[in-house]
Amino acid sequence: MKIALIAHDKKKDDMIALAIKYRDVLAPHDLYATGTTGTLVMGETGLKITRMKSGPLGGDQQIGSMIADGALDLVIFLRDPLTAQPHEPDVSALLRLCDVQNIPLATNVKSAEIMLDRLSAGI
Ligand code: PGA
Repeated sequence: MKIALIAHDKKKDDMIALAIKYRDVLAPHDLYATGTTGTLVMGETGLKITRMKSGPLGGDQQIGSMIADGALDLVIFLRDPLTAQPHEPDVSALLRLCDVQNIPLATNVKSAEIMLDRLSAGI
């Protein structure tokens, strides 16, 4: 599967912990991420990740474009609901496209864990 990982700044530690916990589940899949998230997760886990631009610099739109093209199967986007984001329109567009394309989307750790547990059991 093609899986995208994105985390807002205050959620990056959660994303790293999630990727460490599910490293073996994620490893066989094609992983994509926004720039900073990808760099951090790769550094902490050794997972191979294709990195887009940083989210505020267009990375969310790049991931959104992949969703529109049917090139992603699952998105984990750990959003920070308590901090205003300068690229909020890009974030909203990405989330909307997941619904347009019926792509599974987790926006918090618990839902991501449910998805990854399901993935490890074989979707
Ligand atoms: P980043 O982007 O991984 O480059 O920080 C995430 C975002 O804020 O959308």
